[in-house]
Amino acid sequence: MADRYFVEHTIDSDRVVLGPPEGHHLARVMRAKPGDAVTLFDGSGAEFDASVARVARDEVELTIHTRREIDRELPLRLTLAVALPKGDRQKWLVEKCVELGVSSIVPLWTERGVAQPADSALARLRRAAIEATKQCGRNRLLEIAEPRPWSEFAARDVPESLRLIAQPEATASVAAVWRDRLERTGAAPREVCVAVGPEGGFSDAEFAAAVEHGWQGVALGTRILRVETACLTLAATLGALADDAR
Ligand code: SAH
Repeated sequence: MADRYFVEHTIDSDRVVLGPPEGHHLARVMRAKPGDAVTLFDGSGAEFDASVARVARDEVELTIHTRREIDRELPLRLTLAVALPKGDRQKWLVEKCVELGVSSIVPLWTERGVAQPADSALARLRRAAIEATKQCGRNRLLEIAEPRPWSEFAARDVPESLRLIAQPEATASVAAVWRDRLERTGAAPREVCVAVGPEGGFSDAEFAAAVEHGWQGVALGTRILRVETACLTLAATLGALADDAR
């Protein structure tokens, strides 16, 4: 795969100027020269073959040659609502979620949770998502929403969506809930929301309220997982089930 660069705006002409930080990286770190081939994507689902036309200090002008729709997404829209862990673990989780095909992350305020990222930390996480997207070949960005209270998110009505809350005391497995849904509706779900609590867990009241709003509790095995492990287990399992049902 040629080196991939992210363009912040929709590519709709045959010339693109790549500013910092992507342009800086291409010009200074990669020492681009006129004629060099690169791949661009703009988050719309397409990727573009391009070549370097002009190199300036912190920006590079590129000529677009071809646009290709290349779908490297999961066959379902997967939203992960999670009370994010602290510090570097957030960035690591975002990176792995991009690789596993998660569509969006909604940071949650919960009863027992730690502080959720505010503006500058959210911007850093969104940058981490772009870097992971460049590396793994996706042409759509994982969206990172503003943090919101779990009680509010749990109460949202999302018709057609399968909603799963990971809770160690639950009895159903993800595979069993998936199978059950397939049998009832005859089709794999196209939209799945999963919720993972903080290290202290969801409170009994938070879990009960979610179930009342139609969320289904799922267990992820007999051991207690860290927040990141629970998130990645859900994403990998649902991704495999969805890929299998293509
Ligand atoms: N101290 C809590 C565990 C929190 S682990 C307790 O004992 O209940 C952090 C989050 O990861 C949990 O809120 C849950 O959403 C998820 N999780 C961890 N291990 C899990 C498991 N075995 N099954 C289902 N969810 C799990």
